[in-house]
Amino acid sequence: MIPLREAQEFVLGACAPLPARPVPIDDALGCVVATSVVATEAVPPFVNSSMDGYALRSDDTDPAGGTGGSVHLEVVGTIMAGSPLDATIGPGQAARIMTGAPMPAGADAVCMLEECRYDAEGAIVVIDRPVAAGNFVRRAGQDVDVGDTVLEAGSLITPGHIGVLADQGVVELAVYPRLRVGVLSTGDELTSGPGPLPMGKIRDANRHTLLALVRREGWDPVDLGIVGDDEEALGRALDGAGARCDAIVTSGGVSVGDLDVVKLVLAQRSTGTMRWMQVAIRPAKPLAFGILDGPVIPVFGLPGNPVSAMVSFELFVRPAGLRMSGHQVLDRSVVPALAEGDFRRRPDGKTHFLRSFVSLDDHGGWHVRPMAGQESHQLLAMAEANALAVLPDGDGVEIGGQVQVVLTEPGRLGSWSSASERILG
Ligand code: AMP
Ligand code: MG
Repeated sequence: MIPLREAQEFVLGACAPLPARPVPIDDALGCVVATSVVATEAVPPFVNSSMDGYALRSDDTDPAGGTGGSVHLEVVGTIMAGSPLDATIGPGQAARIMTGAPMPAGADAVCMLEECRYDAEGAIVVIDRPVAAGNFVRRAGQDVDVGDTVLEAGSLITPGHIGVLADQGVVELAVYPRLRVGVLSTGDELTSGPGPLPMGKIRDANRHTLLALVRREGWDPVDLGIVGDDEEALGRALDGAGARCDAIVTSGGVSVGDLDVVKLVLAQRSTGTMRWMQVAIRPAKPLAFGILDGPVIPVFGLPGNPVSAMVSFELFVRPAGLRMSGHQVLDRSVVPALAEGDFRRRPDGKTHFLRSFVSLDDHGGWHVRPMAGQESHQLLAMAEANALAVLPDGDGVEIGGQVQVVLTEPGRLGSWSSASERILG
């Protein structure tokens, strides 16, 4: 057995970022930007009003030098967003202005509509309080100045960034492309689709789980179907998929059974790079990993048990795929949690990953319980879990102790005392 870190470093060492390429900004969400973007335009591009109201000269509103009193200003026009006023606001004048409309020359402040009064015809506006210079005025470049870095190389692109790029008139930018990941199930026992199950057959769960995991990372899943435990068929499937994928994930056929063909075929097709590892973890001990000779892409041979396949994806495919996608942070958040259940175990030289459910209490404290059903074929417990509790080799943790927990489903966090109690009973 080899330590998890060593296996992860071996895999990560073989998975370099894909070459960056330009994509339209609307296709860039969730990608990592390859080169920094520097602003060539100021945002806002011109001085404008941040309120519906009257643009005026602040000096006019304080005739008594701070002692107050009302002023009557002549309204010389209306400025809508998108339509500048081709006139200067002189002393004693004002212009009706809408949010986002350019400030007219001469004016230096806006009085919001709610604080104005009008004479009967609306030709005169009455201001009852002094309005400070700059009131409700957005200066040009207040958000972004020319020369500001608006997107740092290596950043994950968010919806907000896409708006910032649009603000700059950027139509395309260089990103690490979305990873295309092929998913292939292996095993003579597998069938898919509806209909009664012939004796001895099982349905193919892994392909669908792994395709979903790929999709959830924002990568493009490529369904490569099922192949039996047949070296030739598997070889053909890998050869055919290479051109369409940046990485391939298989499940099954990597343990020590008679028909564990994935490791054999990988050894033939990834000369010198294939490594069949017994990783010191439970579940997901066996892993075959190699770089194909033809199209030079990594192949992850995950174990067949459904929970093992998912944990192996989490520990190997996800960080490797993130690196190939240009990410620098490859690890998930790990939090210390109070053990609300029994996390004791026996020493066996392995790190255990227990399917668990974590909850956050009102004071920001984490609580964790192991799911019932910790065998590597018990997929339902994995589906109901939202975290993996990490138990290093040893005797584990008793109720009341502290457990390190990987938040694998941050969108499914429980709130302690309600949801967690209900789900876990
Ligand atoms: P293997 O790694 O091929 O020895 O398979 C280990 C266990 O996982 C066996 O019980 C297989 O039947 C099961 N298994 C393999 N592939 C799948 C799959 N795609 N979906 C569900 N179970 C599977
Ligand atoms: Mg098998």
